[in-house]
Amino acid sequence: MRFNDYGGEAARLAADLVNATGPLTSAQVESILSAHGVAESSLAPEHVEELTRWCERLADCFDRRDLRQRCEVINRMLADAASQPYISLHDGHPHLHYSSPDADAAARIRAITAAGLAYVVCFAGADRLGRCAREACDRAFVDTSRNGRRTYCSLRCANNDAVARHRAKHR
Ligand SMILES: [Zn+2]
Ligand SMILES: [Zn+2]
Repeated sequence: MRFNDYGGEAARLAADLVNATGPLTSAQVESILSAHGVAESSLAPEHVEELTRWCERLADCFDRRDLRQRCEVINRMLADAASQPYISLHDGHPHLHYSSPDADAAARIRAITAAGLAYVVCFAGADRLGRCAREACDRAFVDTSRNGRRTYCSLRCANNDAVARHRAKHR
């Protein structure tokens, strides 16, 4: 998986894992992964359990508003998940991999999500990892907008909130 300033698919994958509700199932994880171009067809139950615990740490990263704390959370994830980086050419383009080639599925997911979040913080801006401002939503998102001022996970939430505010004002 390649990373851009916004952490690429890896950071969005991290957000989607955070947004998955309830205890994860292997089918759920596989569909989230495939939506981000990660093909993992046989996730063992222990991998799903491991990723469920990992999701709490990903969520913690989105919840932290303080830069130093957010970086500490990501650093701990990198320390626990990422291995020595190396350049891979498997798709013809040199890019960094953060898990060893023989790592299992859960270890690979942990490594790419930690690295994806680190990329966002270092190259795009720590405040681009957000939680939707609509209270009923609260979804984690990666703000890839040009000015980086998004406060909602989607246009839909922004509109819903605007309508709700309008109604409240005219009640
Ligand atoms: Zn790759
Ligand atoms: Zn939302």
